[in-house]
Amino acid sequence: MSKVNENFLNLKEDYLFSKISSKTNEYKKKYPDKKIISLGIGDVSLPLVPSVIKAMHKAVDEMAKQETFKGYGIVQGYDFLIERINEVEYETRGVCLDKDEIFIAAGTKGDLAGIIELFSLDNKVALMNPVYPAYRDTNIMMGRNEITYLKATKENNFIPDIPKEHVDIIYLCSPNNPTGSVLNKKQLEKWVKYAIENNSIILYDSVYESFISDEEIPHSIYEIEGSKSVAIEFRSFSKLAGFTGVRCSFTVVPKELKAFTVKKEQINLNSLWRRRQSTKFGAASYITQRAAEAVYSEQGQKEIIENINYYKQNAKYIKEELEKVGFEVYGGINSPYIWLKTPNNMKSWDFFDKLLNEAAVVGTPGVGFGKYGEGYFRLTAFSSKENTKEAMSRIVKLFK
Ligand code: PLP
Repeated sequence: MSKVNENFLNLKEDYLFSKISSKTNEYKKKYPDKKIISLGIGDVSLPLVPSVIKAMHKAVDEMAKQETFKGYGIVQGYDFLIERINEVEYETRGVCLDKDEIFIAAGTKGDLAGIIELFSLDNKVALMNPVYPAYRDTNIMMGRNEITYLKATKENNFIPDIPKEHVDIIYLCSPNNPTGSVLNKKQLEKWVKYAIENNSIILYDSVYESFISDEEIPHSIYEIEGSKSVAIEFRSFSKLAGFTGVRCSFTVVPKELKAFTVKKEQINLNSLWRRRQSTKFGAASYITQRAAEAVYSEQGQKEIIENINYYKQNAKYIKEELEKVGFEVYGGINSPYIWLKTPNNMKSWDFFDKLLNEAAVVGTPGVGFGKYGEGYFRLTAFSSKENTKEAMSRIVKLFK
């Protein structure tokens, strides 16, 4: 008799986005002629930029010739991409990384799920709440049911306090999905200090880094002194360059980073992650990595910044329109996410139903990101400018 992994049965039954889509489909069936606008899911809408497309075409042509064909890649990633990442993302910010500390992958989601395999189930894990639900669900799938939630509400500007109790692994997400909050240098220094003092590890998810506008906000946790001995950083081309469908990301596991055996021996996590990846991961494709490399060409940089600015304009517009009709609005400055307080303490799902039924606009209920998201709602800047404008004019009309 086959036995199921019962950890999966501990997951909440309805994943946020499946509930949103079933409610949306119901509405569509009832009102087939209504145009629904989604400011809900965090997927990009602009196509890949010309430099990326050109590099992909070139890589495809190389695959067609015997002399330039590439088979299985290097699991860690090709040097041509790792070196560019190191130069552009780190050296320019005064961060010095060794090239074998950067691991190319096919999207951060997979690495976030994989990284927890390096840590024993006894670890106490802390998550910001509300936050990207995959952190919680991947931990539950591994069999971890006790999780410490760090409250992030307007009372603390969506930046949780340092926990009073001891935790071993801390997920930080900045710019944050869903609240749009960012950790400044001082706040990050506090977390790094906590991690050093407690022998904890910070899993620093910075996939929205390219949306940072404020000069004083760090783009990498490694801008903080001492962080290389306590932090793993996750970055992605998904929102940086519209690679949500292409799939390319990188994870930095510094060689100074150690975790402990039961006998208190120090284990190098960089080697452990390399071992894990070489067993379980088949490398990002050559074509994908050439595409990612093109993001760092002079022209590629110009083109992706144009796209990021397009989304930033949408974010600014959403924020301003909502504020005009009296909403309390957060995020939207260093982030593509706008986090709003629902009017009259309406429940997140009630607000979702109201927007869908009365404005045919789809957003994301805050409570879907954790209990402290109740009474909040997330809108994203990733739609087209036209759809964003139309959605906002419908919302404004509804609340004027
Ligand atoms: N981390 C956060 C906070 C996200 O919001 C997302 C995707 O929306 C991811 C990670 C996954 O990124 P990727 O597309 O690289 O898998």
